[in-house]
Amino acid sequence: LYNMVQDLKGNIRVYCRIRPIFNAEATTVVDLIGEAGSLVIVDPSKPQRDGRKMFQFNRVFGPLATQDDVYMDTQPLIRSVMDGYNVCIFAYGQTGSGKTHTMSGPSGELTKDMGINYLALNDLFELSNRRKDIINYEIHVQMVEIYNEQVRDLLAEDSASSRLEIRSCTSDGGLSLPDATMHSVQSTADVLNLMKLGDMNRVVSSTALNNRSSRSHSVLTVHVQGKDVSGSILRSCLHLVDLAGSERVDKSEVTGERLKEAQYINRSLSCLGDVITALAQKNSHIPYRNSKLTLLLQDSLGGHAKTLMLAHLNPEADSFGESMSTLKFAQRVSTV
Ligand code: ADP
Ligand code: MG
Repeated sequence: LYNMVQDLKGNIRVYCRIRPIFNAEATTVVDLIGEAGSLVIVDPSKPQRDGRKMFQFNRVFGPLATQDDVYMDTQPLIRSVMDGYNVCIFAYGQTGSGKTHTMSGPSGELTKDMGINYLALNDLFELSNRRKDIINYEIHVQMVEIYNEQVRDLLAEDSASSRLEIRSCTSDGGLSLPDATMHSVQSTADVLNLMKLGDMNRVVSSTALNNRSSRSHSVLTVHVQGKDVSGSILRSCLHLVDLAGSERVDKSEVTGERLKEAQYINRSLSCLGDVITALAQKNSHIPYRNSKLTLLLQDSLGGHAKTLMLAHLNPEADSFGESMSTLKFAQRVSTV
């Protein structure tokens, strides 16, 4: 089974993806080392020896890596959901570093650049079809966003006004978001339609001044239920999370709404880091309750669940500071 290989690697892994450079004049300060999991970052203010730092992760994807390359290394994890494992995949990084590209790909239409969300569901349908004589699978999805510690249903008719409560203890297999609309999906066409609706509902509430999609976390949850011939039931879920931009805002420059947003984002991202670090260190207390995000994902973080952090970097010199902070965050949750 897919898990045997996966188990050898532990339950928390970190991949890093370096985005291509689009501005021909920009210089790159991040580079892959070799084929495997190392990269080097160079401080543009002191490019000599002491300005170079190396980082190691389970895997590093360079600017030439395709969506399929990234998916190939994610696929075993996703397939383990069909065997009853809960899985969480996060895209972390500053705004513009490629998180949405990796998770969703270009919005709306079916293209060759589809992201993990689509490829994962496609794979789950294929497996479910392949096993249909022994297990009957049902697949449902929910999609919510967390903005300023409020949870909103992105697939509901009254999406703009929805305010959802999270149920904290889900060890009984109950849903952590019982009131979020649940949509049965049978094909990738169903999934595309829902993704489109979710994206639209996200955009509706954002203004030109406030591109909310980079200030909120979006969580696509795939619920899988499999019933075998003996009638026994296997339940699991896959959370696919496009996190809010991790960039630090200059507190002297922002006020009001923008400052409040930034504080909520900082707090929830550091809570996420704390939870994953506590899990990696096998601490007895895991601080799930400190943020809506970790509370929502509680049943899929820790225990037998598998976690993948996809850290995204914009390799341009201007982003050096943010890239360093992304790398430090990724290293903190990494057990390599
Ligand atoms: P984020 O979600 O982190 O703010 P995006 O995914 O929106 O960043 O990426 C910013 C821009 O860069 C988008 O236009 C996106 O299409 C492009 N982009 C990001 N990563 C890649 C990549 N690996 N290959 C090609 N284009 C990319
Ligand atoms: Mg984005």
